[in-house]
Amino acid sequence: MLETPKNLTRNILLGMFLGFVLGSIAYYLDIIPSSIENFIQVYIFNLGGSIFINLLKMLIVPLVFFSLVSGISSLSSLTSLGNITIKTISLYLGTTAIAVSISLLVASIFKPGAGYSSNIAAPEKLPEGQSVYSTILDIFPSNIIEAMANNQMLAIVFFSILFGLALNKTNHLTGNLSESFERLNTVFMQLVLMIMSYAPIGVFCLIGKFVITDGLDIFQEAVMYVVLLISVLIFHAIVTYSIFLKIFTNLSPIVFFKKIKETAIFAFSTSSSAATIPVTLKTVTTDLGVNKNIGSFVIPVGATINMDGTAIMQGMATVFIAQMSGIDLSIFQYVQVVLLAVVASIGAAAVPSAGTITLVIILQQFGLPLEAIGIILAVDRILDMIRTSVNVTGDATVACIVAQSEEMLDKTVFDN
Ligand code: ASP
Repeated sequence: MLETPKNLTRNILLGMFLGFVLGSIAYYLDIIPSSIENFIQVYIFNLGGSIFINLLKMLIVPLVFFSLVSGISSLSSLTSLGNITIKTISLYLGTTAIAVSISLLVASIFKPGAGYSSNIAAPEKLPEGQSVYSTILDIFPSNIIEAMANNQMLAIVFFSILFGLALNKTNHLTGNLSESFERLNTVFMQLVLMIMSYAPIGVFCLIGKFVITDGLDIFQEAVMYVVLLISVLIFHAIVTYSIFLKIFTNLSPIVFFKKIKETAIFAFSTSSSAATIPVTLKTVTTDLGVNKNIGSFVIPVGATINMDGTAIMQGMATVFIAQMSGIDLSIFQYVQVVLLAVVASIGAAAVPSAGTITLVIILQQFGLPLEAIGIILAVDRILDMIRTSVNVTGDATVACIVAQSEEMLDKTVFDN
């Protein structure tokens, strides 16, 4: 048994609360001298938060590599790998398309952008999105060390699968080298737990950094957009995923949400599905009972291409900006937004604010004013945190569905 930290969720919530309180005191009340406030911001919140994120990121590449190689190399048949891939990708695309559709429906009914005018200046330099072409090309690395150094998840997944397959074929020549990968994977899982035990401090710093930098006043801009977006995000996370779990697995959504809570908090405070991979992987395999072979494939792929929360934001932002500019989108254009948002969310990197970068692709397609992205960016910080939680919850949902369909979900672990 791996050693797990005690009372972790409670302590993380406490860290979050204290970070929020200290951040708010520093931001809103003038009782802390500015030199001390500066020290807290730089040396406690920024430094502590960045150290914590670095520690998580440090584990991503070895963890994905070892777990995927040990999983693939022990698969008995390759047909199951094909089936798992098809199911995973279809579910990822399907849930994302549903997510944008809900978002568009809500935006067209409640019209967040009608009559809205903003005095927020356009950003000086517009961010550039990644094209579909390069997203596809990036799956096939020309240099695996470079891909690993740059955290290119799909390339790492691709290489690990190939390596695992070769290992599978050569185990009889290598004295069962697969087993060594299996053991290394266990060591890295323990390392995840060790780093997670510092999460209360890490989350304290990250939340404090957020509040002390921006305060909470940002909500005043584009309130309707913010409120609608948060509502759709919560709706999708709770309702759509529960329905999917019920229909495809008959597992209890309540148990699922109880167990995914911690991972969602990690995603919320780091705003990065990639940095959350170690935690998502741990939760899915050790708490939700998903077989390691499935989890180690579905989770890193999901962190990279499955971003329902991001797609929801992109759909809502497009309609918001169109309404603001007095442009009426036709039904056909709505369908186009769905397709584009699915592609743009796949293209978005799993790091903070990446979704706003690929939003540009959609705005350009419809000739919408790109400067309006200034408003979206102004309120994006907290929205990014919430949608990242939705993104990782989606990954975990799909992992459970795929595992259950392959009879590779341990129900006793799930219910425990
Ligand atoms: N921060 C999000 C993620 O990592 C991506 C985004 O929507 O900006 O999942």
